[in-house]
Amino acid sequence: MPLSHAELAKKLEQVLKPSSVLSGAAAERAYDCDAYTVDRSNPTAVVLPETTEEVAKVVKWCCENNVPFTARGAGTGLSGGVLPALGGVVISTKKMVQILEIDVKNRCLLTQTGIANKRLSDAVKQYGLHFAPDPSSQTVSTIGGNIGENSGGPHTLKYGVTAQHVLGVTMVDPKGEILHLGGKVEGAPGYDFVGLIVGGEGTLGVVTEAWVKLVPIPKEVSTALIAYSSVNQATQTVADIIAAGAIPAALEMMDQGILRAVKLGFGFDYPEGTDSMLLIECDGEPDAVRRDMEIVQEICRKNGAIDIRVAQDEAERARLWLVRKKGIGAMGRMAPSIVTHDGVIPRSKLPEMLEFVYEVARRKEIGVANIFHAGDGNLHPCFYFDDRDQDQVKRVVEAGEEIISRCIALGGSVTGEHGIGVEKIDLMSLMFSEADLELQAKSKRIFNDGMLCNPCKVLPNQKSCVEHRARWRGTAW
Ligand SMILES: Cc1cc2nc3c(=O)[nH]c(=O)nc-3n(C[C@H](O)[C@H](O)[C@H](O)COP(=O)(O)OP(=O)(O)OC[C@H]3O[C@@H](n4cnc5c(N)ncnc54)[C@H](O)[C@@H]3O)c2cc1C
Repeated sequence: MPLSHAELAKKLEQVLKPSSVLSGAAAERAYDCDAYTVDRSNPTAVVLPETTEEVAKVVKWCCENNVPFTARGAGTGLSGGVLPALGGVVISTKKMVQILEIDVKNRCLLTQTGIANKRLSDAVKQYGLHFAPDPSSQTVSTIGGNIGENSGGPHTLKYGVTAQHVLGVTMVDPKGEILHLGGKVEGAPGYDFVGLIVGGEGTLGVVTEAWVKLVPIPKEVSTALIAYSSVNQATQTVADIIAAGAIPAALEMMDQGILRAVKLGFGFDYPEGTDSMLLIECDGEPDAVRRDMEIVQEICRKNGAIDIRVAQDEAERARLWLVRKKGIGAMGRMAPSIVTHDGVIPRSKLPEMLEFVYEVARRKEIGVANIFHAGDGNLHPCFYFDDRDQDQVKRVVEAGEEIISRCIALGGSVTGEHGIGVEKIDLMSLMFSEADLELQAKSKRIFNDGMLCNPCKVLPNQKSCVEHRARWRGTAW
């Protein structure tokens, strides 16, 4: 006879202290999804451990009692990675927020993984260092979540994604054993298990601590916001800048839908006739930055820019970034729900792909706005709608599937940085052959050969997950 939710929570209170266990209707509702709100599943209980050892105790208890468990950071994921698809225990890292060691000489630090990304840079700013991966959610999203999703950000173009900045991890594996993989020193010999775990979406274990790299804060930074009267002029600028060999630190694009939302939400103003904007940032040695910015501005003008604003000081730079950083949040004014899709295409295909996104949105009669890492060819169409209307939900999900299928057909990828989660599980077979998927499944089994650790994520065809999928799709439409 399975335990009731209340009984299970009581048992967990004997594993951790009672104040580290949440249960009941409010907890179940609060932890039933991430920022991909169209798929939800209730946990049985939520635990808030403070140390690696406490995480190991919970995982061992789950194994002994055949209860699924799912690691959760801030829950800002955009593909349903944290929803407890088969119920069970959500292991929240909310209380694991300590920086354990800062090694300035070797430019690295050891941290617990529940800490918000930006707090790492804040802590080492005094040494002229920072943690380079900067997802737009960085004030809240956690290092554990960034590792889970191998997150990128506006500066990925120059500095790379999370994987390039993680040296080692402490992980509680799906049986409750504590593993130390990699470490402070880069390039340890042997197989690169850290590389496998970063991007593992919590399916290989619960990462509790991580050694991450720190890089110097650039000496000079120059930021420009450029307005265009057509999307095509902006996308052509992106292709021309990359072709010219000038690699900016960030090259981001916002279309009219986003500009309207940021104007409504934050009073951001832009020139009459603007249809899209690029935010371009160059950083590094002062001479190189000046030269790169000149090249960039020349290319912008050649492509018909109607306005180029270059920040003159730090305050203006922050104002220019506002349109990018607040863009998705501002979409909250447009409708009750947003789904932000994520796909990658070769940069040369940007104009045709954006046209396709608008065409799909028109056909599905759903509002769309685009804000994305144009320099990486990483699209984020944001569909806004009302998720109380199941027909709208159906159309949004179908629109996403069409867009991602087109990305793959154009030689791109099923995801750039938001992961597979539950959202894209059915699309994996469009990108990978059966043999590829089986190899991935075998790699997963090195750490996780059961169904308890974050089930129904990333790889298709896990047994009981077909039911979760059918149930969700059945209720969603
Ligand atoms: C407004 C907004 C802007 C965003 N911008 C970006 C962006 O620029 N770039 C980008 O890449 N993403 C972006 N995202 C998506 C999201 O913020 C990232 O995926 C982020 O890394 C998730 O962190 P989190 O702490 O919220 O993780 P969660 O959502 O809690 O978890 C994400 C995944 O990681 C796993 N996980 C969490 N903690 C651990 C752990 N300790 N050990 C093992 N697995 C774990 C979970 O099981 C889940 O599969 C954005 C989201 C929002 C809402």
